[in-house]
Amino acid sequence: MTPKTVAVLGAGTMGNGIAQVFAQNGHQVVLRDLDQAILDRALGAIDKSLARLAEKGKIAAADREASMGRITTATDLAAAAPADVVVEAVVEKLEVKAEAFRELDRLTRPEAILASNTSSISITKLAAATKRPDKVIGMHFMNPVPLMVLVEVIRGQATSDETTRTVMELSRALGKTPVEVDDYPGFVSNRVLMPMINEAIYCVYEGVATPEAVDQVMKLGMNHPMGPLTLADFIGLDVCLAILNVLHDGLGDPKYRPCPLLKRMVDAGWLGRKSGRGFYRYDG
Ligand code: NAD
Repeated sequence: MTPKTVAVLGAGTMGNGIAQVFAQNGHQVVLRDLDQAILDRALGAIDKSLARLAEKGKIAAADREASMGRITTATDLAAAAPADVVVEAVVEKLEVKAEAFRELDRLTRPEAILASNTSSISITKLAAATKRPDKVIGMHFMNPVPLMVLVEVIRGQATSDETTRTVMELSRALGKTPVEVDDYPGFVSNRVLMPMINEAIYCVYEGVATPEAVDQVMKLGMNHPMGPLTLADFIGLDVCLAILNVLHDGLGDPKYRPCPLLKRMVDAGWLGRKSGRGFYRYDG
């Protein structure tokens, strides 16, 4: 596949990883967030991640520099205008994402593909904010993006075969394995994962076991590489809550009701690893 110009919206946990992987594979990337301090932090995080890969011999030292050289940053959304593909990775809020898609539709060339890295929000709803619903698709990378192989490719109601083919091929060109799924709340990954995480939180809430005990049971007993509460802290408890709300509202089944303890922790600003505290503490 010929290298493309890619715009990545949102320079948080996921946006950083997505920008890195595109740059590593020869694409020109513009990374956009709301202020320059966030973008500077993102560039630092990407450089550190590339340095780790170089130390482990997974990439050549020269690739680290070349990859960094392919990433530019911007606070103005207009910087996305020349992109062939946009991957949106802003906060998991429908109104924020829909507004981004409305603006992208206005700013980018009509043939550009607009993809979302959303964990759970309807691709069909995001597509409806644009005049090109056939070119809107889900490109759901996993965290940490440079290491995880799966891309869940989500077809909205109007996504065309051509857009799906292009994104499947693009994902393979990034060294990933794409899996195509249909657009229903939580898709497949989070429809299966989040009820398990929620149930683990209920175990703590109801005093069945401590977070450490819950995680140990699942690691040692089920061979999970990471316990569900460690994983929840890693994903971000606000992200987990947002996804459970989408499952609960979208499918209408009480089995998806977010645990009150999860809500209270998010209210307290205990968001997991990124805020220094969640089910565990991350002091320095
Ligand atoms: P994050 O909170 O780390 O980063 C979000 C970034 O978006 C922030 O830097 C914020 O400043 C920025 N932002 C907010 N509004 C913006 C706008 N209008 N334009 C540009 N930037 C804006 O969140 P994250 O964990 O990186 O998640 C991003 C998306 O990826 C969400 O949709 C989430 O559901 C999805 N996702 C997350 C994970 C995970 O493990 N964290 C995994 C897969 C998918």
